[in-house]
Amino acid sequence: MRIDIITLFPEMCEAVMGESIIGRAQKSNAIEVNCHQLRDYAFDKHRRVDDAPYGGGMGMLMMAEPIALCFEDICKKIGSRPHFIYMSPQGKTLTQERIKELAQYENVCLLCGHYEGVDERLIEKYIDEEISIGDYVLTGGELPALVLADSLARMAPGVLSNNECFELESHYNGLIEYPQYTRPSVWRGIEVPEVLTSGHHKNVEEFRRRESIIRTAKKRPDLLENAELTDKERELAENVLLGEYKKQKNF
Ligand code: SAM
Repeated sequence: MRIDIITLFPEMCEAVMGESIIGRAQKSNAIEVNCHQLRDYAFDKHRRVDDAPYGGGMGMLMMAEPIALCFEDICKKIGSRPHFIYMSPQGKTLTQERIKELAQYENVCLLCGHYEGVDERLIEKYIDEEISIGDYVLTGGELPALVLADSLARMAPGVLSNNECFELESHYNGLIEYPQYTRPSVWRGIEVPEVLTSGHHKNVEEFRRRESIIRTAKKRPDLLENAELTDKERELAENVLLGEYKKQKNF
């Protein structure tokens, strides 16, 4: 997978994407990340990429042409048109489900807005979709783009040691993950659940699945509706929900 990021702060994006797992994935060529300085596509001597909005109002707006030129340059370099995403608080909220779908693209280009955002004509003509990382507003699109790039990159083949690393994690299968423990087996008097030190793999698997369902029912009951559960598992979830309800109502 190749990820291109159009930004006013390429060093910020390169610094984050160059560290840890994603940094190593770039070195081993499992993924490629390119950060582009939008000002390189400005056409005046001050390298301006923003201007006042027509009709007045607060703040500045990013101009369409430098973004269009930068994106066209990326298309030329790749030899095809990447899926073009504008990071925006007006977009659909990012989910693991959408990340799974986006991970199928070979090339993805992320546009980081700033100031009041971007000239609407650029969005209409070039952007394939707008993605938000939540219902709140940040000063720029870099952090949202890095969130998306990180979550996409870790799904690319060869980035994590095997698919189980993300398939068993929260949200991948509609549930949240089971509790996990590491050494020592007794910490400040609190013991690790016995089954985890038993070496009995089937029992461990059953324990984890059960805990995953119980946790989802307790912490994120809204996820249960779309989770794939057997009749018995759904009964377990409903009992947990009922227990939580009784606790709240002091039954
Ligand atoms: N005026 C815009 C509005 O009300 O919709 C907000 C602009 S915001 C201050 C500047 C930039 O930050 C946006 O263009 C976008 O790229 C980014 N941004 C802010 N919050 C975001 C969020 N929740 N998700 C994704 N991008 C966000």
